[in-house]
Amino acid sequence: MNQGLAMNQVRGDYFDTFNTITSPAPQEVLQAAMDECAYYNKLLSKTVPGSDVWRINHNHGEPVTVSEHTRTILEMALEMNRASEGAFNIAIGPAIALWHFTDGTAVLPDPEKLKEAVKRADCSRICLEENTVTVPEEVEIDLGGIAKGYICDCIADSLRARGVTSALLNFGGNVVTVGKRPDGQPWTIGLQRPSGERGKEFWAAVKSSDNTLVTSGIYERSFQLNGMTYHHILDPRTGWPVQNHILTVTAVTKSSLLADAITTALFVLGPEKGLALAQKYGVSAVYLRDDGKVFFDPDLDIVFVK
Ligand code: ADP
Ligand code: MG
Repeated sequence: MNQGLAMNQVRGDYFDTFNTITSPAPQEVLQAAMDECAYYNKLLSKTVPGSDVWRINHNHGEPVTVSEHTRTILEMALEMNRASEGAFNIAIGPAIALWHFTDGTAVLPDPEKLKEAVKRADCSRICLEENTVTVPEEVEIDLGGIAKGYICDCIADSLRARGVTSALLNFGGNVVTVGKRPDGQPWTIGLQRPSGERGKEFWAAVKSSDNTLVTSGIYERSFQLNGMTYHHILDPRTGWPVQNHILTVTAVTKSSLLADAITTALFVLGPEKGLALAQKYGVSAVYLRDDGKVFFDPDLDIVFVK
């Protein structure tokens, strides 16, 4: 959406997604903040040898000392796992891998293997004591569903520390706003229409200043088989993609770390349980169902697009 006045924009390819910072601040200031993503990627990626997550997964069940960043993310991840009764689960990776969402093979997983993977996704066996993490050998963690939110918060704080008073960060659908638009109005954030052209068609718009909007949608990574759509958000209790007719859910709050964790949980839980969980955390949420019905927190400043 056009946010008015002269803007600079930097782009960065991190966390398997496309990230942008848009702001009237000088390009080199924005670039310096964006460059910090490389540090977080090295720390939090599952696939970078030596990262905190890699060390946790390769230490044969022995304790690992992690950074303050990783500790903060893990604390939120474990809390959200408990608060959502298991709907948000950072140990679901082995089940995700069986679905091959990213390599284009549209096949259903072997049910026995899926059962085994679900059994391994037991967050109650992840032990976090201050900065020490102990994870049994068969449990594997992946912060892919939560780290982007935390990093977005950190980069927004870095921009503020560099004197930036107005910016819009979009890290693959995690949006954080710093201050207001340069013209003093709040930023307007469009919610992607699931069936529409990416970045062009919106089903609603939310006003935002110094907060975050995070969306979980089934249109991101999925495949079709025999008339069914299989998408990348799994019900951790079964290992199957959630089938509750929800197309997309967006959470609006201050912390993008919280928003990232909770949107995945909200998706799995559906509107009734989800809106109650959101309220408990002071998060405003809006759901869109496949029949066009909308469920949302009445406090949310939202405009629906016909
Ligand atoms: P995205 O990463 O596409 O922006 P999300 O933040 O909703 O969207 O995270 C989805 C990712 O989280 C999936 O790609 C998958 O790896 C993982 N995931 C899927 N189901 C769950 C779940 N129930 N709990 C935690 N992570 C999940
Ligand atoms: Mg998430």
